[in-house]
Amino acid sequence: MIIAIDGPAGSGKSTTARAVANAANYAHLDTGAMYRAAGLAIQQKGISVEDREAERILENADIEIAFDSGSTAVFLDGIDVTDSIRASEVGRIASQVATLQKLRDRMVDQQRTIIDRLEKRYGGVVIEGRDIGTVVVPNADLKFFMTATIEERARRRMAQLSDSGASVSMNTIIREIEDRDERDRNREVAPLACAEDALILDTTELSMSEQVREIINQINQIH
Ligand code: C5P
Repeated sequence: MIIAIDGPAGSGKSTTARAVANAANYAHLDTGAMYRAAGLAIQQKGISVEDREAERILENADIEIAFDSGSTAVFLDGIDVTDSIRASEVGRIASQVATLQKLRDRMVDQQRTIIDRLEKRYGGVVIEGRDIGTVVVPNADLKFFMTATIEERARRRMAQLSDSGASVSMNTIIREIEDRDERDRNREVAPLACAEDALILDTTELSMSEQVREIINQINQIH
């Protein structure tokens, strides 16, 4: 059973995907974490994505995902970067490196191998990203496209940040999300898009448990 969840930043994909995977005893793959690790590789070198060196650094970056009792760890060149890839700045650079065809080709190959392995091992896998239903696994059993208004997405991001002690203004967060959306939707390679056969889930007015229930209901219907 392969479940694809796509949608813009802050639409609730990650928390929902993780909760659905837990409830169904399936594996969970966060493909954004892989692009974030690539973004971190660029940030660590202190260069910009446009630099000539960037392509070589990305080509040599060893990005691995490890699954251990339900949680996922991300490694860049053998170092655990699970926490450091969550910084806003890394998200911004991730959306820049994610426009590069060569990197995407490699990530998609790697993702398909992981998905194959996880489906065999767990019987099901919930994959979240931007191009899962359109490019990575177009033959997924179920596809969802999660959305929410920009205000609601910013509000959620704000809550996350204040939990971690950071203070950023609502306007700054809205601008950051809009920037990332714009790049993700308008890039030439594998842009963020709703697959024709995806179910659209507007989460603006939904609680987390309602979002999870909706997806679990759909899984149960095709079982
Ligand atoms: O999902 P998350 O916000 O962590 O992803 C970070 C960035 O990685 C996104 O803004 C997007 O540019 C890129 N991404 C992508 N394709 C995916 C997952 C993430 O281009 N499947």
